[in-house]
Amino acid sequence: MQTLANTRDLLLNAQRGGYAVPAFNIHNLETMQVVAEIADKLQAPVIMAGTIGTFSYAGTDNIVAIAASLAQQYQRDLPVHLDHHETYDDIADKVERGVRSVMIDASHYPLEENIRRVKEVVQTSHRFGASVEAELGRLSGIEDDLVVDERDALYTNPEEARYFVDATGIDSLAIAIGTAHGMYKREPKLDFSRLEEVRNRVSLPLVLHGASGLPASAIRQAISLGICKVNVGTELKIAFSDGLKSFFQHHPQANDPRNYMPPAKAAMADVVAKVIDICGCAGKL
Ligand SMILES: [Zn+2]
Repeated sequence: MQTLANTRDLLLNAQRGGYAVPAFNIHNLETMQVVAEIADKLQAPVIMAGTIGTFSYAGTDNIVAIAASLAQQYQRDLPVHLDHHETYDDIADKVERGVRSVMIDASHYPLEENIRRVKEVVQTSHRFGASVEAELGRLSGIEDDLVVDERDALYTNPEEARYFVDATGIDSLAIAIGTAHGMYKREPKLDFSRLEEVRNRVSLPLVLHGASGLPASAIRQAISLGICKVNVGTELKIAFSDGLKSFFQHHPQANDPRNYMPPAKAAMADVVAKVIDICGCAGKL
């Protein structure tokens, strides 16, 4: 069995260097090839992330094997990260299969239950040399016209963040400051002062979820305030499928994946390169 790289040093280097490492959601051979190829071309540290659904779709062993083979081919680390995983058993199984970067998302539980679930995952993961990200605060469905009380209930509380980090021993912390998953109907207003308050209370790398469709200036500002990992998923899916759709519109008779996949990959590659540029991580390998 192959073992992939963890993301601890990758994120600590980003923190020291004042840039961020993008985590790109991948789904299959083609999307993994794109991330590896563009990251190699730009000499950029990157993370390949998969949700629970992605691993069950593509097969954990297949994803690990492809990532290990690409890492070998490009002579570099290409860590695979468990995005929004939820149970100890599922995470432990994937760590045993070679994944060394995990996220346990128990953010929908009350604080103490969140801590209990995260600690359990940290103990096992660290024994395997795997790094652990956890989330405090809620991401989905957050609108920017919330009144202050709602905002306080959903966004990451800076004092709680310090307590949470100390109690769990995690390696990186995902925070909620107004981003959401998916594309935005209108530009969200991020709570940068909250990010600063969290930054002042904890020293570990911070993670921004829901970066698809955020203006580059907002992502750059978040990075300047301590974000070291930026998650991008939806924007890649849209580019890939738009590339595919457009090819079939022009070539309705096409039936060869070797012909219809390249334009999809090229469209996704443009987004990968753009995000690497925004994160400021080109040449940082
Ligand atoms: Zn996320």
